[in-house]
Amino acid sequence: MLAGVLGWPVGHSRSPAIQNAAFREVGLDWRYVKLPVPPELFEETVRALPGSGYRGANVTIPHKHAALALADESSAAAAAIGAANTLLFSEEGKIQADNTDAPGFLAALGEDPAGRRALVLGAGGAGRAVVWALREAGAAEVAVWNRTPERAAALANELGVTHAEHPGPCDLLVNATSVGLDPPLEGAEALRALGLEELDPPAVVVDLVYSGERPTALVDWARKAGSRTVDGLEVLVRQGALSFERWTGRESPIEAMRAAAASRS
Ligand code: NAP
Repeated sequence: MLAGVLGWPVGHSRSPAIQNAAFREVGLDWRYVKLPVPPELFEETVRALPGSGYRGANVTIPHKHAALALADESSAAAAAIGAANTLLFSEEGKIQADNTDAPGFLAALGEDPAGRRALVLGAGGAGRAVVWALREAGAAEVAVWNRTPERAAALANELGVTHAEHPGPCDLLVNATSVGLDPPLEGAEALRALGLEELDPPAVVVDLVYSGERPTALVDWARKAGSRTVDGLEVLVRQGALSFERWTGRESPIEAMRAAAASRS
């Protein structure tokens, strides 16, 4: 059986290492490959996959909306978030769309956000999934801040949360912007880009960005203050683990997946 990740570009993806380690660990003779596909070829490529030995696929930038739009069925999470990161192909060739970014984020968080005041930085696709996940999990308040305020206001309005004009005090902070990715903004410059230079880190800080061996500026800032941190690699592993379970029906071997994510090979 085959699975893969559809993206444009997709060369940087850690998902093949993570998923192939998982297949090996549970003894499945499956292979997971990179599928670099430009937007104009996305739909015809996806429709060809079920007949070419594929059981499912992950979907990344810029195809998450298109993946939802072409699916025959979609989960409640994918429909509410407006994006799919996981496709599952039935034996009859039907395409089911799901979103494991939201439950993967909650699994990586490792604690119940119910009753917490959460602040999400970023109103792109990842911000949207995190805001929805926190709202569904019963956070007492979910506020969203974005560099371009109109996008945060629109997202807040649509999902029934609060628009933060400036980042303020909270219990749980999530960076869902690409600040810290490429080119990496460092230290004070990254904190300034996120509007955090006047704030103390809250008890829990999650950075969706995974930037390699060194912690991101945000994680560094939070650790120095003694906050608990969750990095983007753990979020990536958790969403991948849920996709693996959807495709194979097996429990995911989290430790093997985590080790593969952390390895540079
Ligand atoms: P996206 O839709 O392109 O959104 C990008 C977000 O970053 C927007 O809110 C944008 O603000 C903000 N941004 C970009 N440059 C900025 C800067 N210099 N200063 C302040 N804000 C800036 O991307 P996405 O899909 O939401 O992904 C966002 C990040 O999350 C990426 O780094 C991605 O790798 C990461 N991610 C990680 C995982 C994981 O599993 N760990 C999963 C999904 C995404 P504007 O609206 O103002 O442009």
